[in-house]
Amino acid sequence: MSSQTLPPISNKHQISALQLDVPPRLLLGPGPSNAHPRVLQALGMRQVGHLDPSFITLMNEVQELLRYAWQTDNQLTVPVSGTGSAAMEASLANTVEPGDVVLVGVNGYFGERLCDMAGRCGGDVRRLEKPWGEVFSLDDLRAGLETHRPAILALVHAETSTGARQPLEGISNLCREFDCLLLVDTVTSLGGVPLFLDEWGVDVAYSGSQKCLSCPPGISPLTLGERAVEKLHRRKSQVPNWYLDMTMVSKYWGKERTYHHTAPINMNYAFREALRLVAEEGLEARWQRHQNNAELLWEGLAELGISCHAPYEYRLPSLTTAIIPEGVDGKAVAVYLRKNYNIEIAAGLGQLGGKVWRIGLMGFNSRQENVTLLLAALKDVLGSF
Ligand SMILES: *Cc1c(COP(=O)(O)O)cnc(C)c1O
Repeated sequence: MSSQTLPPISNKHQISALQLDVPPRLLLGPGPSNAHPRVLQALGMRQVGHLDPSFITLMNEVQELLRYAWQTDNQLTVPVSGTGSAAMEASLANTVEPGDVVLVGVNGYFGERLCDMAGRCGGDVRRLEKPWGEVFSLDDLRAGLETHRPAILALVHAETSTGARQPLEGISNLCREFDCLLLVDTVTSLGGVPLFLDEWGVDVAYSGSQKCLSCPPGISPLTLGERAVEKLHRRKSQVPNWYLDMTMVSKYWGKERTYHHTAPINMNYAFREALRLVAEEGLEARWQRHQNNAELLWEGLAELGISCHAPYEYRLPSLTTAIIPEGVDGKAVAVYLRKNYNIEIAAGLGQLGGKVWRIGLMGFNSRQENVTLLLAALKDVLGSF
């Protein structure tokens, strides 16, 4: 190497950074939640190549375990390389063709994001609105389908911004009657809230790793049922996003094993362990655990004079929107909890900004001792204001 021909190296950005050290936070906000220790251990294992026979076995296991968690037999069930928003974008990029009417149930922040993404895919976006914290009835949805005649109906099962659970039973019959696909966001429900994709006739669903699955953010499941795959194959235009194009990605996850992009190997290790934990515990026990710990939280909050924003009937066990009592500085409380207890909870978004705290009890974090600690910390902070 002849250094004479190279320009001088700039040391402007050559900082001397310290060895990584992070505070031991208990993440009880809307996500990420703390990863299970076994998941973190799997993440650190040595790599194999992305077409190594051992990795292909692992890929198949990930897909099978994901089908169990979602209660689906869908062939096209894969983890997308990216966070929940990547799978969200993939769900729309693959199914929406320019000009398709996409009817989105907007009753929280993530409904808004669905509208944004569907519009970017060239969809003719129509909004079905409800105040944040409420859910859509079958009558609401029938009226929306009648008015808009969409190709796709998109709903959020677990609205992380409001703490409300959208019931899904019966919707697929409506969608079939109006010949449209049912697309559902299950980011804050998968692994924490009862979910039966096939039984409930969901055609397209996506989720994230970092909420009730207790895996770090960076990988996110996506599944397309037969009707959605047919629509994908009938497309007249290419999927507008190369990276998320399931006609290509599915060939890597399918029999062909054709290289598309390098799978995030270690994230798949971690994700496999997270899904293995779901299968080991069993869905019924896992859902019950989330419900029990949420009930404990709600009772404790009530004793502190704090009520919940979402009605009990539709209240998510994984994410609680707790109404900030009159005269209390919600932000200051969150800062106090972080500084004094290493606990993270979050503020409200949009319509609920300044009105609620968002408290997550997701996956590994849904444990009685976490509820007890948070309630004690809240009692302490509310007494000290
Ligand atoms: C968190 C979340 C997303 C987005 O996931 P990221 O991992 O933040 O990209 C999408 N939908 C819902 C309902 C969520 O809670």
